[in-house]
This record gives sequence, C-alpha cells and structure tokens, in this order.
Amino acid sequence: MIKNNLQKVKERISAVCSNAGRDHDSITIVCVSKGRSLEQIKEAIEAGITDIGENRTQEAAVKYKELSAIGNRLPVIKWHMLGHLQTNKARETVKIFDLIQSVDSLHLAEAVNKEALKLNKLQDILIEVKTSPEASKSGLKPEEAAGAIREIVKLTNLKLKGLMTIAPLVDNPQKARPYFRQLRDLRNKIYELGIVTYGQLILSMGMSDDFEVAIEEGADMVRLGRVVFDEK
Ligand SMILES: *Cc1c(COP(=O)(O)O)cnc(C)c1O
Repeated sequence: MIKNNLQKVKERISAVCSNAGRDHDSITIVCVSKGRSLEQIKEAIEAGITDIGENRTQEAAVKYKELSAIGNRLPVIKWHMLGHLQTNKARETVKIFDLIQSVDSLHLAEAVNKEALKLNKLQDILIEVKTSPEASKSGLKPEEAAGAIREIVKLTNLKLKGLMTIAPLVDNPQKARPYFRQLRDLRNKIYELGIVTYGQLILSMGMSDDFEVAIEEGADMVRLGRVVFDEK
C-alpha cells in the first residue's frame, strides 16, 4: 500500500509541476513517520523514500538506532526534525538529524549552534515561520524573522538552508495558499535585504492536504505523512 500511495503522490507532484512549469525532480518528499512503526518506515524506504521526518527527538532516536542496526542493507537516509524543540534536547537532536526544520527562535538557534560546535558538526537548519494565526503553532513571527535570521547566519556551526511553515487546518486547500505565499514573500524580502545570497533558501511547505497548492506557490520540500501511510 505504501508503495502504491507513493506512486500516486509522485504522479500528483508531476502533474502539478508540469502545470506550474516546474521540474518535479526539484521537489523533495520528506516522509513524515511520527507514530509509524519501523516496518512502515522500512517499507517507505524500500519504495524509494530517502528523507524521513520526525517530531520528537526521543521517538526518532529509537527508530534511528533500530534502522542503523539493519546497517547497509538500507540506503542512506536523511533525518528531518519537524517538531518543536526544547533547548535541553538540542544535543541529542544535533546527533541524529541532518536537517532541523523547526528552529523557531534565536535562543534555540544558539543552543543548537553550541551543541553542533561541541560535536564539530555543521548543522543544516530551516527557520520555522508562523504564518498561521493559530496560537498552537510555533515559529517566528514573519515580522521578526528577518531580524532573527540576520543574527542566526552569524552562528558558525549552523548552515541556514531555508524556511519552513505549517499552514493552518482548512477545509479547502486553496485557503492555505496565502500562508504559503507569505513564506515565499518573506524569502524574497530576506534576499532583498541582502541577509543571505539569492537562491540559498529552500521553502519547506505543504502536507498531505495541501501539498499541491504549496508546490504551486514555490515549495521545494513537502512533508507528507497520511497520504503516504494511510488507506484512503
Ligand atoms: C505531522 C506533520 C506533517 C505531516 O502531516 P500529514 O498531514 O500527515 O501529511 C508535516 N509537517 C509537520 C511539521 C508535521 O508535524
């Protein structure tokens, strides 16, 4: 089923890319495996998934260890941290994750940088931006983001790769469009301010219900859970 689901997802991505004049190979699928079993993850990897997303360091650590124990019979995968991160988990998180997508404050960036320095790692990160007005969501406010990023890019052991956002829950994916557009506009502003080099930032946006709209608005990375793992 996972293989079939992924096939369908890829077809949908190809269709939307072709309409939007984008290259479907430029879209990275992060398979979000929070709450899923090791068997399901293995199935996804066997179906071609190379990027795995998790929300909790502890849960990821267990899976990471179990998958590592299988060893080189599986292809190398990239681990993405997507959930809100407490500074006291920074060390364990830096050890496991290739890309921390949920850096949502300068304070957290500093904590992650400190641990990366100790581990002699250049840690890839995305800045999570709270485009949605929902109080439950974390992320930097769009109006604070440029200022924080100006400081974050000075941290020696972090490599800023882009921006991430979670659109609010809506009944129609079209309603998520303004939030994706807002993230893209923010990226343009950061380029215009000269904080980072043009072309340096990817956009991680779009989930099972709204990834097509997100791609139309410029997503480079979509984070998919239910549409990969669940029966329709
Ligand atoms: C759970 C989660 C996803 C995947 O959500 P689906 O709706 O299952 O595709 C993507 N991003 C984040 C940050 C998540 O927490």
